[in-house]
Amino acid sequence: MKLYNSLTHTKDEFITHEDGKVSMYTCGPTVYHFAHIGNLRSYIMEDVLEKYLRFSGYDVKRVMNITDVGHLTSDGDTGDDKMLKGAKREHKTVMEIADFYTKAFFDDCRKLNIKKPDVVEPATSCIDEFIKVISSLIEKGYAYSAGGNIYFDTSKLDKYYVFGDVSEENLAVGVREGVDADSNKRNKADFVLWFTKSKFDDQELKWESPWGMGYPGWHIECSCISMKHLGEYLDLHCGGIDNAFPHHINEIAQSEAYLGHSWCGHWFHVHHLNTNSGKMSKSKGEFLTVSLLEEKGYNPMVYRFFCLLSHYRKSLVFSCENLDNAKGAFEKLIARIVPLLNSDGDIDTAAYDTLIGNFKAAMDNDLNTSLAITALYDVFKYDTNPATKIAVIKELDKVLSLDLIKLATELNDSKKSENDDIPHEVLELAEQRKRARKAKDFALADSIRDRISEMGYVIEETREGTRIKAKQ
Ligand code: AMP
Ligand code: ZN
Repeated sequence: MKLYNSLTHTKDEFITHEDGKVSMYTCGPTVYHFAHIGNLRSYIMEDVLEKYLRFSGYDVKRVMNITDVGHLTSDGDTGDDKMLKGAKREHKTVMEIADFYTKAFFDDCRKLNIKKPDVVEPATSCIDEFIKVISSLIEKGYAYSAGGNIYFDTSKLDKYYVFGDVSEENLAVGVREGVDADSNKRNKADFVLWFTKSKFDDQELKWESPWGMGYPGWHIECSCISMKHLGEYLDLHCGGIDNAFPHHINEIAQSEAYLGHSWCGHWFHVHHLNTNSGKMSKSKGEFLTVSLLEEKGYNPMVYRFFCLLSHYRKSLVFSCENLDNAKGAFEKLIARIVPLLNSDGDIDTAAYDTLIGNFKAAMDNDLNTSLAITALYDVFKYDTNPATKIAVIKELDKVLSLDLIKLATELNDSKKSENDDIPHEVLELAEQRKRARKAKDFALADSIRDRISEMGYVIEETREGTRIKAKQ
């Protein structure tokens, strides 16, 4: 499989340390508010990647942190503490906020068919690990104490900006608050490992440490939680593109300084979901959630489908119009599956292998989900029997996770129950009309429609197919 790697800026062959095994780490949510659908774009694409690796035969172990301490409103070391901000907003304790929004996050994931990672670890349960790694970094000369805090000294590294191509846009994320630079830092790029002399007097969560009561910086969390569960070598690290700088390069700096060797081979970054006015973000106040989409009548699967239609390395513009287009296409797709349901017959293995092969070719090419969806559409056109088509669709949906069969079955059932009150003769005539239309005998089809009308029923053509209704 070829997968773009932010470290090398090329589509690399995806290789792992141990044959057939993938150690995969994902930066989890900061649980101070609901996840917006932009955050969830990243998690959907990472979910597809994980499922595709499993589909390809890898044994994947995926770990995710929950950021419940240490993340400031700037991704650097300035601004307010996000968790504290959430607690103040809702007049609750930080832990109450963390519990509530962690649950809300996994509810959203469940609605979007995003699998829960094998290990989910809140930062607050790993304080001992953070202290161990920070102590070692101080001992090795990579970290220093200044003004009461512990900082990582980026000047000790041969190369700090390992991704090299930090764009202006991403640089701006790291320093966006425009607040005074921290005068304790020896170098501009240095970052906090442990806050002791907090500027937040009301910091709720504090722990004993060799440097006094304090709390960890955000970046150290991911390094330690990853090493705790996945060991010294990480195959794949994921996150949204805004995490690349400074968060991920800080993770690399401290992990490699601590381990004394290179740490993670492959960096996967999902580009942003934007609105017409720029990146969707919580700091802007207004943001869309899965619940809001549901309230507006969208099945969460429509949003998942919308995300899959675009490549993860392109920013995606969200608008109601774009989502409506995806909704229409998705409903049509489900309706096309209905006639294939419950098909008996032998699987045509040659056709099956070709169709699965087309899907794999798309996914092996840097996880091209939009081409993979095209491969799904090609199943309908392919010259093979319905049993083979439905078997392929089931298989592809192990990765796409769009509930294709379930939704088609529900649609079929709802059609059936709609027809419960329609007289048998009318249903029979409707079937005859369908056959006439298929045979392009439109005169006959029209005359059957007239007979149905005389019997008090109308036929409507909808996106999902033909509907029969009693006249009002
Ligand atoms: P946070 O909860 O802020 O730590 O973010 C959770 C994840 O969402 C991170 O991987 C971010 O990089 C990602 N993210 C944040 N904003 C967006 C966006 N507008 N589009 C896609 N991913 C995003
Ligand atoms: Zn992280």
